[in-house]
Amino acid sequence: NPPLLQVEDLHVTFDTPEGTVEAVSGVSFSVGAQETVAVVGESGSGKTVTALAVLQLLDGGRISGGRVLWDGEDLAALDRRALRRVRGNEIAMIFQDPMTSLDPLYSVGHQIVEALRLHRRISKRDARERAAELLEQVGMPDPRRRLAAYPHQLSGGQRQRVMIAIALACSPRLLIADEPTTALDVTIEAQILELLGDLQHEYRSAMLLVTHDMGVVAETADRVVVFYAGQVVEQGATADVLSDPQHPYTAALLDAMPTPGTDRAQPLAAIPGAVPPLRAMPAGCRFHTRCARAWDECGHTEPLLHELPGDRAARCLLHRPGQERPLRDALTTKGA
Ligand code: SF4
Repeated sequence: NPPLLQVEDLHVTFDTPEGTVEAVSGVSFSVGAQETVAVVGESGSGKTVTALAVLQLLDGGRISGGRVLWDGEDLAALDRRALRRVRGNEIAMIFQDPMTSLDPLYSVGHQIVEALRLHRRISKRDARERAAELLEQVGMPDPRRRLAAYPHQLSGGQRQRVMIAIALACSPRLLIADEPTTALDVTIEAQILELLGDLQHEYRSAMLLVTHDMGVVAETADRVVVFYAGQVVEQGATADVLSDPQHPYTAALLDAMPTPGTDRAQPLAAIPGAVPPLRAMPAGCRFHTRCARAWDECGHTEPLLHELPGDRAARCLLHRPGQERPLRDALTTKGA
């Protein structure tokens, strides 16, 4: 069986007044049925652009290379109608800020009913009944009364629950969630993540979770794909990657993770420097300007994504076959 979603050597470019820039450079990964895959990286890493490209929803950008296969079918080859059928019916997206995706002028009940009726032949009355059920499923208090509420009358957590209800309206086979809890406080975040996990189980859907937060990855994902500057730098099973990172960037992300119980500081603050701008990608390894393990060669030789035992991969010269540098010294300092 082909994976549900397969992204193959994806390139995404944007035309800007200063010229064309590439935001995603040769990204490949897959999501299997009922699997949760997290795409993690700092802002500017290309993770959200990749999620939007999967849905062919790029605003101002275009897929300039590679393919996105849904159930073995090339999404770029579908006409608009077929694409609409896939979006919403089979793949649904949950965004970071529900306020930008909910319409302030309509009650949430109306918006869930519309989502249901857009993709299914269902009477208004049945759709309303189903909308109330969905709100109950997503843990909305007093769901029937809440149908009449407008987005601004709800809390941030409740609005995200409405977005999840809309996403689930058509029982999608894949949920793409882009930073679904970033705008929420820590307690609500935990509730929403748990809810997403429960519903995913119940609906037997797969999930592609886009996040900057390794803590969220640890709690939700079967596999993790680490992005840096438009490339995949590491991927593997979450437990393996988190316990034994094979790329210095992953190790740095893990070191930057706040220890449980402490107040959540600025995420990733511990990695000095920033993701390089698209227009000024450094030569060699894109991470060399920030890498604690870098040596001269990293500044001019571009590392490949090397396959490693245990269905893992890392893009680092340290993993080059025959590389002499001692590899086995732990990349992460945490717990040392
Ligand atoms: Fe660091 Fe060099 Fe590996 Fe890049 S190739 S991650 S700079 S050690």
